[in-house]
Amino acid sequence: MKSCSRRDLFKIAGAGSLALLLPAVSRMSSGTAWADDRLDPDSAQAKALGYVHHYSEVDPERWPRFEEGQICANCQLAQGDLSADWMGCSIFPGKKVAHDGWCNAWVRKQG
Ligand code: SF4
Repeated sequence: MKSCSRRDLFKIAGAGSLALLLPAVSRMSSGTAWADDRLDPDSAQAKALGYVHHYSEVDPERWPRFEEGQICANCQLAQGDLSADWMGCSIFPGKKVAHDGWCNAWVRKQG
């Protein structure tokens, strides 16, 4: 029977550690978790409210409530850091909306 050397033990321990770390490293490097948080303008809920990532994409004929200067960052329904590129929105829980985005539920921020 072959004995297990110290060198073999290090190899086994190293492989085990790598196996434990790989899934975490994979998640960190893929960036998909962050990308998935962003509201998809093509999703049914976003389309129903005419959400766009940039106000310049708003079709004013389809969305006559839109006025220049209305963006997610100055909407009462936006949440979190309003100076960030992406922020929360109480209309779209669990999703991030763009700083310069817009949707038909826009409400002037109070105060
Ligand atoms: S409700 Fe306000 S913050 Fe939310 S997507 Fe519409 S405009 Fe942006």
